[in-house]
Amino acid sequence: MIELIDSHCHLDFEQFDDDRNNIIEHCQQLGLTHIIVPGVTANTWQHLLHICQQSDMLYPALGLHPMFMKQHHPKHLAQLKQLITTHHTVAIGEIGLDFYLENHDKKSQLELFCEQLQIAKEMELPVILHVRKAHDQTIKLLKQYALKGGIVHAFNGSEQQAQQYIKLGFLLGVGGVITHEKATRLRQLFSHLPLSALVLETDAPDMALANMQQLRNTPENIPSILAELSEIRPESAKQIAQSTTRNVKELFLCEITNIDDNE
Ligand SMILES: [Zn+2]
Repeated sequence: MIELIDSHCHLDFEQFDDDRNNIIEHCQQLGLTHIIVPGVTANTWQHLLHICQQSDMLYPALGLHPMFMKQHHPKHLAQLKQLITTHHTVAIGEIGLDFYLENHDKKSQLELFCEQLQIAKEMELPVILHVRKAHDQTIKLLKQYALKGGIVHAFNGSEQQAQQYIKLGFLLGVGGVITHEKATRLRQLFSHLPLSALVLETDAPDMALANMQQLRNTPENIPSILAELSEIRPESAKQIAQSTTRNVKELFLCEITNIDDNE
């Protein structure tokens, strides 16, 4: 059985309140072994941790997302530090810079991001990054902080930026975007970047796939993203699954999962 991981899924969101357990069960049938659930705001962290405690498949990350600046408060940083010492979390995330947003406040985004990079460094945790229109600034900061690595979720930058992240030990998240014919530049990029730098993700409930009937994305779409990636790459779906799964395990789960190369 091919083992798959959704490296980025907001399964704690209320869109999944009615059928979360059914989705998790169906994901198991589809070969998913782990789902990483990143946090976005402090007032949802407890709920997220609670949801992750309900299933062996779910692994939490905690962070303050740059799209929700108005909801963040300096005291949340102390809470973040506290929670990651008392709960098993695989990463700080999702955090980052979003200069694509209208009326974004660069200064406060940068401050919050740096504070969280500092926490990641102190706690020796990897990070899950959300970055739009700010890859060069992010790369510059990552060089300063010299972290344990992480994932640039839904990567949508240039070839050169991809190579710089890879050089810094970062992985790039490949999601439903590649199923869209219009995403030619990104499809081209993901067709030749080294497999050792890629991970699969849905970003559910957001990021709809092409031809998706329902509006809600779910982690059950990981096999479709894998299938699409194997269409545009030279390797088989099995090889891509093995590598992308191993990449996530090596980054996040090494302490809690044996990495079996012969799977
Ligand atoms: Zn996300």
